[in-house]
Amino acid sequence: MSRSVTILGAGCTGPLLGAMLAARGERVTIYERRADPRRSTPETGRSINLALAARGLHALERAGLRAAIEPALVPMRGRLLHAPDGSRTFLPYGQRPDELIYSVPRALLNDVLLDGAEARGVALRFGERCTGVDLDGGRLLFTGADGGAREVTFSDERPLFGADGAGSILRKSLVGRGLATAQEDFLDHAYRELTILPDADGRHRLEREALHIWPRGGYMLIALPNADGTFTVTLFLPRTGTGASFESLRTPADVVTFFAREFPDALALMPSLAKEFFAHPPGLMATLHVSCWHDGGRALLVGDAAHAIVPFHGQGMNCAFEDCVLLDDLLYGATPWPVVFADYDRRRRIDTEAIARMAIENYGEMRDRVRDQNFQLQKELALELERRHPSRFIPRYSMVTFHAGIPYSEAERRGALQQDILAAALHGRQSLADVDYASIARRVESGLSPLADATAPS
Ligand SMILES: Cc1cc2nc3c(=O)[nH]c(=O)nc-3n(C[C@H](O)[C@H](O)[C@H](O)COP(=O)(O)OP(=O)(O)OC[C@H]3O[C@@H](n4cnc5c(N)ncnc54)[C@H](O)[C@@H]3O)c2cc1C
Repeated sequence: MSRSVTILGAGCTGPLLGAMLAARGERVTIYERRADPRRSTPETGRSINLALAARGLHALERAGLRAAIEPALVPMRGRLLHAPDGSRTFLPYGQRPDELIYSVPRALLNDVLLDGAEARGVALRFGERCTGVDLDGGRLLFTGADGGAREVTFSDERPLFGADGAGSILRKSLVGRGLATAQEDFLDHAYRELTILPDADGRHRLEREALHIWPRGGYMLIALPNADGTFTVTLFLPRTGTGASFESLRTPADVVTFFAREFPDALALMPSLAKEFFAHPPGLMATLHVSCWHDGGRALLVGDAAHAIVPFHGQGMNCAFEDCVLLDDLLYGATPWPVVFADYDRRRRIDTEAIARMAIENYGEMRDRVRDQNFQLQKELALELERRHPSRFIPRYSMVTFHAGIPYSEAERRGALQQDILAAALHGRQSLADVDYASIARRVESGLSPLADATAPS
């Protein structure tokens, strides 16, 4: 029998979840405060493109939406590091031909998700801002774009999914009602987005199939390619302080001087830098910890509303999409909502906490450790060990990014064991030629059990 479901938010998570629920026969309505982005100018000030990886692709495949987004994807084969002297080093992400991550425009992905949800029978209500959640009465209060007030009810029979992002009103209500506690750990770094335009022939002005990084220790600049020849560039910098910080870049001249010193090759490609830099305030980044994601079987938080993370592993949306896959699995056989929600909360948390920690760690890696010779040697050795022990040793980045079947928590656990092996193997050594592979093999065989989701590198 078909059940009715309300979803709040039509960002990344809401439409994908809606499409999956509708495919299971549920009657789904999504309420979104923005106008329909397919018929209006997209919102500015959000990250313009996103890195899509195996977990996200797996979820899109499950919903039957992968083929629709594929033409817009630009593959990224690895990190291309830009040193201050202009020299470049390429560090591949993986070693199998399909070990790529993909840059995708957020707006286009959103359109594909909305079309997919609608095609599966999901009702989309745009211009509806939720202004209140009455958990006791099971009422959602909306103010429409026309200024009119509306009310929607929810209950155990007709549950509410909060896919309303990091500032979730449903989460605030759960906290306000004493059903959950929430802690937002803000980074003392922020970000600003900029653009590198194509050349006169419409071509990319940097290597197209790479994620470009200008690592500078305490901060960094990155650039992700778009299919239209542009790059979306993001500057990550401390928010305050007298050294390099957003606070200290007050005037166009400050910005240009800073870029000329730190990122001269990027500056040469950004003639409108000074103007673009001040178009938006710096974006804040936080990790969100929420003690309970549901109110019995009546309401459940998903995606960023439940577990927003910092963007440095490129996994926030991938993780949110994986939420939808787990929910879809748990809904098999029309299981009652209270059972599904409690099971979901119990099983998912260990993985979202693991990716939250790994995302923070990855900031230090991207802005600083990538420059280190020993770090680069460890990456090389990790790939070599994957070739030698393909079912047991998979680099942590690869487990997170290319293996949707390995839970984040397992990637984190095995990653720590592998890191010990790598550090010990390279202690006092300058090259892989000096490495004692026999002793490593003993540690790998005894410490790392074979993985089901492992295929040998070709
Ligand atoms: C700089 C940056 C870079 C990132 N890069 C990546 C990346 O490369 N790869 C990756 O996987 N992830 C990335 N992320 C994370 C990713 O953006 C989020 O994880 C993802 O958007 C979460 O989707 P969501 O649907 O849960 O929330 P959102 O995408 O925020 O969607 C929430 C929706 O709810 C609506 N809404 C909110 N409140 C209300 C209300 N009261 N009433 C009605 N509607 C409401 C909003 O308008 C919005 O449409 C990045 C994030 C940032 C900040």
